[in-house]
Amino acid sequence: MLDIKWIRQNQELIQTTANQKGITISISELIDWDDKRRAILQEIEQLRQERNQTIEEINHLIRNNDLNHIEHKKLHMKEMNKHISTLENEHKEVHQQYTNLLLYVPNIVSPDTPIGLSDQDNVEVKRFGEPISFTFEPKDHVTLGELHRMIDIPRGVKTAGSRNYYLTGTGAALHRAVQQLAVDLLTAKGFNLLEVPLMVRQETLYNTGFFPLGEEQTFRIADENKWLVGTSEVPLISYYDNEIVDVTEPIRLAAVSTCFRNEIGSAGRDVHGLYRVHQFSKVEQVIICEGSLEKSEQVFQEITANAEELLQLLELPYRVMAVCTGDMSQKTYKQLDIETWMPSRNAYGETHSSSNLLDFQARRSNIRYRDAEGKTRFCYTLNNTAVASPRILIPLLENHQEEDGSIRIPQALRKYMNGIGRLHI
Ligand code: AMP
Repeated sequence: MLDIKWIRQNQELIQTTANQKGITISISELIDWDDKRRAILQEIEQLRQERNQTIEEINHLIRNNDLNHIEHKKLHMKEMNKHISTLENEHKEVHQQYTNLLLYVPNIVSPDTPIGLSDQDNVEVKRFGEPISFTFEPKDHVTLGELHRMIDIPRGVKTAGSRNYYLTGTGAALHRAVQQLAVDLLTAKGFNLLEVPLMVRQETLYNTGFFPLGEEQTFRIADENKWLVGTSEVPLISYYDNEIVDVTEPIRLAAVSTCFRNEIGSAGRDVHGLYRVHQFSKVEQVIICEGSLEKSEQVFQEITANAEELLQLLELPYRVMAVCTGDMSQKTYKQLDIETWMPSRNAYGETHSSSNLLDFQARRSNIRYRDAEGKTRFCYTLNNTAVASPRILIPLLENHQEEDGSIRIPQALRKYMNGIGRLHI
């Protein structure tokens, strides 16, 4: 959500950003509704003043026992009340139209954000390691998972339909190990780990900027009027809904959660294996800081570096991409995705997404702090994946495989795997 005063002063910039993000909204229509809303409010205010004056006049007439004029004044009052009530109803409707449109206004983007239509236009800004060239025909994660009895997709589909899976034995152990590694990494850096609600109110999804535009991606629990979260960013931000917080030191939050995604726009895409599934686990990092561009850029780099550190501990080659306008969400000001090398795709695949939202989310959630002068201001919020599994198992299994089908466990993971250094078929 942006401030309407600011929107009015920057109409052209916001309309351009909406077009660049592929969001259908007319900013001039929004301004028209805002004009109407203001005009009605002004009229109501004038009539209320007039009414107060008439009340005073009636009281004066009563005190002077001037009964002849009272009836006439009372009739006038009745007319005014009727008019005010008609205007109040009109205002309710106009206000509704106005707030509905306001919910579609996008955040602006940083000056270094590439302009583009889709992920094809994202720009590589950094590369770590190089794709491995195998001296044998490498297997994909599904084949490796079957050989090691750690991934069972047919039974997942039998139980829950397409885009579902079971992880068994060492598969389930690896899934937990990467998450615990990420949790330990974050808590050692001062992140506060929370266990969070995963079924949330609709209002929570509006306040965190996931609705209305992400509504079709979200599973609704029938008859409950609650929704399953697609990321723990939602309950982590919502923890401070309507509060004034202390951000002298940025608030660093983390959570491990199951994430549920409808993937409604992805029909036919990434249907093989574990890449795009309906249910996965994610260790998420969220930071709430003061409303300063410099500070937010600093913590943006920090959460991005945390994700890179995790990938380096997993000994995986990756690249960092500056995400373009067309591949960004409505609420994002700046985004860096990390893509990890996946041999079966012969390509890098997205494993992490780092976002700076400025005050867009905090404004909707009404999360504020007091600045040095004691003035309340909206916070800035940021988030990034620490690790998402099972997607991360794709590069982990595929990059660390040997010709005999065994899989090397990176050093940093071994303590979470009972010290095992290699998985044999
Ligand atoms: P996001 O919260 O959309 O920024 O996604 C963060 C990370 O979660 C992605 O980079 C992926 O690693 C993972 N992820 C997102 N959607 C899915 C999905 N449908 N299936 C598996 N992993 C996913």
